[in-house]
Amino acid sequence: MFFYESTRNSNVKVTSKEAIINGLSQEGGLYVYPDLDTIRVNLEKICQQSYIENAIDFLQLVLPDFSKEEISYCVHAAYDDHFDTPEITPLRKVGDVYVLELFHGPTSAFKDIALTLLPHLMQVALRQQHKKALILTATSGDTGKAALSGFQDIEDIGIMVFYPHQKVSDIQYRQMATQEGKNTFVYAIQGNFDDAQSQVKQLFLNEELQTFAKEQNIILTSANSINIGRLVPQILYYFESYKQLIQTNKIQLGDKVAFSVPTGNFGDVLAGYYAYLMGLPVSKFIVASNVNHVLTDFLTTGVYDRNRDFIKTISPSMDILVSSNLERLLYYMSDHDTAFVSQCMSDLKVKGRYEIGEALLKKIQSLFVCGYLDDVKTKEVIANVYQNDHELVDPHTAIGIGVAQTMNLKPVVCLSTASIYKFAGDVCHSIGVDSLDGWQAMKYLESISNQKIPSNLANLQNQPILHTEIISKDEMKSKVQLVMEEMNDD
Ligand SMILES: *Cc1c(COP(=O)(O)O)cnc(C)c1O
Repeated sequence: MFFYESTRNSNVKVTSKEAIINGLSQEGGLYVYPDLDTIRVNLEKICQQSYIENAIDFLQLVLPDFSKEEISYCVHAAYDDHFDTPEITPLRKVGDVYVLELFHGPTSAFKDIALTLLPHLMQVALRQQHKKALILTATSGDTGKAALSGFQDIEDIGIMVFYPHQKVSDIQYRQMATQEGKNTFVYAIQGNFDDAQSQVKQLFLNEELQTFAKEQNIILTSANSINIGRLVPQILYYFESYKQLIQTNKIQLGDKVAFSVPTGNFGDVLAGYYAYLMGLPVSKFIVASNVNHVLTDFLTTGVYDRNRDFIKTISPSMDILVSSNLERLLYYMSDHDTAFVSQCMSDLKVKGRYEIGEALLKKIQSLFVCGYLDDVKTKEVIANVYQNDHELVDPHTAIGIGVAQTMNLKPVVCLSTASIYKFAGDVCHSIGVDSLDGWQAMKYLESISNQKIPSNLANLQNQPILHTEIISKDEMKSKVQLVMEEMNDD
């Protein structure tokens, strides 16, 4: 039953249910399934089934202590009604690349694919332990809304989201402030994202708060991308893109495909690597970054160094200097060397850098290639794709496409992680239309593109603001206590 272990200590073994409830292992490691490469996915069968059928088959393989009934319940709850297309993740040809659209979910964020499913997995896992959970999330914008929407009205789970006051876009603010559901709590924090994030981390480590939570029979946990419940739903769409290439006769079963992935925390591209370990024919993974190109440097030199300035870009979801999920790649590529992984992560914490040896770097480079684009180049890609192919893409997607274009890998699937309407102002600017505010920019894009404004965004203007609290980061702890009491009141 204990299929998962920690990347930093192989004696720490847990079930997949425990891994989903805990999020992170106690000594700081991430949960991994050691023998992932012994799981074989039946590609031929995948190519004949729907997304939902495939999700049910697939998740049973990677979450073995969930019953078939439990998985089936969770998959239907997540994917039956919440996506605006039956393919869930449709593949489209744009010029000479294929674009895998991951933004058809309830909040138009790619994170919806996992965050529609995780709450149900967590609820099923909690039931067995007769406990409740409270999710604490710091967000720079997108994750907060996707998490709120996923956890809305899920019984026995509460969710608190903290975002930096006046430092999210108008659309992101409205998405969060209009959130319904009696178990959702949203706060603007005086400070920046790092303040909110570091305070949330402090709260998890706060003994007084943890004791209080125990008394209330509530587990404090997170829904960020290190949770295996966030990671495993993402593996499937790599297989789904392969299925769509087969079904449209673009490739034959067994042909290798390259994937270009706009990368931040390394969760999305890691999910692709998991698909590869389980048998998906992959030629290369292209790790595409913006000017915060820690990963490009790492994959080129073997040195991971976060000691550099943080640069704000037009692809904010990739503005990240510590790509947490890289730890899992190191674990697999080093043949489960948990002592080595621990040393790297401790160096990262203490010195802000670590270095891997030549042999390991070569091994990683045989599968992972990389590149980055600055904002100017990113806008050029958006303009070129619009001019040549009459398609619009958002800045994150443009980075994946642009980096792929510098390499000669075919066929290549570029993962599209955001709707153009989430970044409408920058998309307009890229194609030479300036100074429209968020709503005007959305309207303009709709007038020139074949993608309609998703209803969840179109409706935002009419919805009442339900969350108005602005607090200092020192007030977060008492808010968490209040919410825990409230959860046990009803
Ligand atoms: C989260 C996000 C990414 C980065 O994904 P990771 O799994 O963190 O690498 C890229 N693009 C968008 C739009 C995102 O929201």
